[in-house]
Order: sequence, then structure tokens, then C-alpha cells
Amino acid sequence: MGQPKLISVFLMETTEGPVLFETGPHSCFKYLEKGLAENGYKKEDVKHLFLTHIHLDHAGGAWEFAKHGAKVYVHPVGVNHLIDPSRLVASATKLYQDKMDLLWGKFMPTPEKNLVVAAHNQAFEIGGKNIKVIHSPGHANHHAAYATEEGIVCGDVGGIRIAKGPPIPPCPPPDIHFDKWRESIDLLLQEQPQILHIAHFGSHDNAVQHLHDLRKEIDALETFSKDLYNKTPDKKEAYSEFNEWVRNRMLSLCPSKAIADYYAISMPTRMQLSGVYRYLMKKETD
Ligand SMILES: [Zn+2]
Repeated sequence: MGQPKLISVFLMETTEGPVLFETGPHSCFKYLEKGLAENGYKKEDVKHLFLTHIHLDHAGGAWEFAKHGAKVYVHPVGVNHLIDPSRLVASATKLYQDKMDLLWGKFMPTPEKNLVVAAHNQAFEIGGKNIKVIHSPGHANHHAAYATEEGIVCGDVGGIRIAKGPPIPPCPPPDIHFDKWRESIDLLLQEQPQILHIAHFGSHDNAVQHLHDLRKEIDALETFSKDLYNKTPDKKEAYSEFNEWVRNRMLSLCPSKAIADYYAISMPTRMQLSGVYRYLMKKETD
């Protein structure tokens, strides 16, 4: 959409060629190819692709790599959605409606023969590099992070962090789960990470502090939202108060208004409210 520095992917070089983590959406595929070329590779060179989860901004280009024989590693719950994306596309269409093509481009099936199920704690060794799978729900039930000697690739479980702003939890429906998210943060901390590679956006050192700050933002969002939900359970009625709280918090934590605005683009408040309210509603009926 012409907005730079909103979605990242990560390349790890090995003696067996490049390993890619995430693809971004298919609508950005030409930028991904450009990035590969800058590193001396073509898309055909990528024989191993690791997905943190199957949301369209992370896995949208998986099928392009599968066409060239790449193995695609994914959480067990993500497997069937890649083989047959119709349900995934239908549920995304509910959210994005007529903007689907514009935002995400094509999402085609990935053949079963290309898929590798990534089990929790499983370790893969590719061209001299180790990759450990960490199932890490909270943002999505089928989320996996990947610990490598070059840092942990966190997808969205490591939060969104733009420029010198704070890490915040991206909360689109339908899987948001704050309790699971905190447990996932503990699992990431157990790896004693130095560097986190997050999808939105980039690589961040000071990983431990980042994860503690993220937990603080999850706690604050949950506390505020619980009160709001008890008082105003209707999402439409709650929106303006929710929006004001998010806006003020971002303005107080970000070094500039421009950075706070960029957060609002990467995680629209309306979607944030939907995801959080859905979680609170499910919790109430559990
Ligand atoms: Zn994302």
C-alpha cells in the first residue's frame, strides 16, 4: 500500500542456501523478490520457508515458494488452511470485504507434499543452522516462533514495535487470548533471547526488556478493556472510549505523534477492539 517498514520477513543464510521466515502478503511479493535479489538470491533458491502463522500478512506468498519445491514449515493447526485456504479467505473477507485483493493479493493453496508440520520444541538443522520451534499462542492459536542462533523470529507474538515506540499486542479477532499470550512470553524468555525479529517491524535488541514491556502493555490493555466491557458490553457503543484510551496511551509512550499515527495504521483500533471484546466475551461464557 506504499507504506514502508510495516511488514518484514527474515532471511538466514546457511550452507544449504537461504532459509526464509515469513513471506508477507502476496500483494508485496515484488518487494520480497527485490529484497531476495539484494541478497543475491532468486525466489527459486529458497528451499525452506518457516511460517509463524497463516494470517495473510505473514503467509500470503507461501504458495509461490511451494511452486518451486520449497518446504513450508507450519504449526499443525495451520496445515489444513494452507492446503485448502477457502475458510481462511472467507473469514478474512468478513473483515476486509472488497479490499481483499488490494490488501492481500492472491492466496493460493500450498500442496500437501510441500508442508512440514512444526511440532512444539522440535529442532530442525538446515545447512549448519539450528531452528527450534516454540508454539506460542496468544495472537493466534496456531502461532509458532522460531529460536535461532541469530535471534528469535517472533511473528506477532512479540508484539508490534515501530521505530522507538513501545511493543504493543496486535489483537485482531478471532484467537486473542491474553493468558496464553503471557505464557508464550515466558517461553520466549526461557530462551534467554538477545534479539527479536518481529513482523511489524524489524529486528530489536534488548529482547528481554522488550518482552517485559510487551507484557506490561498486555496487562494494561486487559485491565482497561475488562472494565470497559463490564460497563459497556456493546462494541459500537464502547468504541469512542476505547479509541481515546488507545490513542492517549500511544501518545504518552511514543516519542512523536507521527510514530503514534503509524501504530494506528498497522493495528487499526476498531480491529483491536473486536479482537479484545471477542476474547472477553468467550471468557465470560467459558
Ligand atoms: Zn501480522
